[in-house]
Amino acid sequence: MKIHDKEFVKYITSDKISETLKKVALQINKDYKEKNPLFVSILNGSFIVAADLFREITLESEISFVKVASYHDMESSGDVKKLIGLNEPIFNRDVILIEDIVDSGRTIKKMTEEFKELGAKSVEVAALLFKPESLLVDLNVKYVGFEIPPLFVVGYGLDYNGLGRNLKDIYQLKP
Ligand code: 5GP
Ligand code: MG
Repeated sequence: MKIHDKEFVKYITSDKISETLKKVALQINKDYKEKNPLFVSILNGSFIVAADLFREITLESEISFVKVASYHDMESSGDVKKLIGLNEPIFNRDVILIEDIVDSGRTIKKMTEEFKELGAKSVEVAALLFKPESLLVDLNVKYVGFEIPPLFVVGYGLDYNGLGRNLKDIYQLKP
């Protein structure tokens, strides 16, 4: 399968994904029993995992969608990530951040800090994919669908230069 200039091969099937998401949801339903968590989906990549995970949640809960805008900070050397689009009050809420994939962990680490600053009672992360070998920050990803090696993957919400998000399965770059 080709996207732009690159060849990809099937890596995780949609059946396996939905089976795994059901298990993750079951765990969240158990851990947050009697609680009313606020799920926050980090766009764009997580819109599909958020839709499928949230439908397996049986708790009285809400979902919101935010974007992380990266811009170059003149003062520091790296990219600064800023949260946009959040309308809900966060104070005292149990927040579960939904991510498609955690790579270096920088994005989700920054988001976790932002939600804590807004007064969240708790902040946990649910990620469909996690590349532990790529992790560069101190971060605990509580709910993980699949731990994968540091591969480049597309499909199920994940893109390669804008394309591939609509693929039902997850593909990896052809080795
Ligand atoms: P982090 O801040 O953890 O390094 O980056 C996380 C973001 O990088 C993800 O939300 C995703 O947008 C992008 N990313 C990281 N690894 C991959 C990958 O293998 N495939 C795709 N399509 N995006 C990735
Ligand atoms: Mg993402």
